[in-house]
Amino acid sequence: MSLSFDHVTLGQRVLFGTGAAAENLAAEVARLGASRVMVIASDFETPTAQAAAAGIEVALWHHDVVMHVPIETAEKARAAAAGHGIDLLVCVGGGSTTGLAKAIAMTSRLPIIAVPTTYAGSEATNVWGLTEASRKTTGVDDAVLPVTVIYDAALTLSLPVDMSVASGLNGMAHCIDSLWAPRADPINAALAAEGIRALSQGLPLIAADPSGAGGREQALYGAYLSAVAFASAGSGLHHKICHVLGGTFNLPHAQTHATVLPYVLAFNAPAAPDAEARIAAAFGAAGALTGLQELRKRLDAPKALSDYGFTADGIAEAVAVVLPAVPASNPRPVTTENLTALLRAALTGEDPRVLLDL
Ligand code: NAD
Repeated sequence: MSLSFDHVTLGQRVLFGTGAAAENLAAEVARLGASRVMVIASDFETPTAQAAAAGIEVALWHHDVVMHVPIETAEKARAAAAGHGIDLLVCVGGGSTTGLAKAIAMTSRLPIIAVPTTYAGSEATNVWGLTEASRKTTGVDDAVLPVTVIYDAALTLSLPVDMSVASGLNGMAHCIDSLWAPRADPINAALAAEGIRALSQGLPLIAADPSGAGGREQALYGAYLSAVAFASAGSGLHHKICHVLGGTFNLPHAQTHATVLPYVLAFNAPAAPDAEARIAAAFGAAGALTGLQELRKRLDAPKALSDYGFTADGIAEAVAVVLPAVPASNPRPVTTENLTALLRAALTGEDPRVLLDL
């Protein structure tokens, strides 16, 4: 079979080492020749950020981080960076913190060093997100891609098991969705398959031994692969749905992804046999949905959107906003009826197999 595709791999430096964040960050700040560093971390993430920044001089600490980056929060942070003559942004924390650094870089073109402490994967994408008047907007701009990512599993030991599970399944969603996303190709599919393997090995280890670094290293490695695959392949149906649930209904990002993923997989898998086989093999399971559901069961993963504040009243609005955004690449045609059925099932935590033969 001949191969034909047009693939872009984003260029960034990745430094991976447990217990090495402070040393790696100091070396990167020196290499980039920065002298006015702004460190962004939420109040909760600040002790972790202080540990990572132990070897650098910090010109400005910024703690005002809000999930989904409301425009007002972005503008305050942009003004703070400009007011202090900042020449390098360092973000230490989850995807919300990385997202705020990206919002500053969008307008200032300042470089970012990202030190992620969840598995959201924003550090490896050139995608920014902002929320204004309950609508989340995303866009692509190479200026928001961190120049360097520093991974240190020791900084993730404080991430509770339930949040690790939800966030790790957010990474898993990047992998699975990238197999039918608009720019799916053999390179991002290979990265996605290895991401599924690493996350499916790492997450149960975290649940079994939360204070061990081994599972967390696998999960960070898998999260990076998942984000590289996602950045290359683009947003598929799953991301279009979760984007609306997060931006319009303010649902928590990781838990929403973790909950919706089996429903999108059940819906698309029958029409995407190659992706189905690839996912099943990466899980080492008889089928893709079986592999995902066995893992989710072991991890006691999030089950129903109703647990996170979504209600049946929101379904019609969500469907109306998602439908025009569904990528043409989606393996199954998406209609008002089947998308409503998918969201209804995800709302209550019904068995996703009801979607197999809608
Ligand atoms: P988050 O950043 O909001 O973090 C979730 C919670 O975990 C927060 O309370 C945070 O303080 C806490 N936390 C983070 N690290 C911790 C640690 N090591 N120990 C203890 N607690 C810790 O959530 P998230 O799921 O990481 O990121 C979600 C956001 O990222 C969303 O806004 C989403 O849109 C964005 N995102 C963007 C992209 C992209 O490519 N642009 C990709 C993925 C996610």
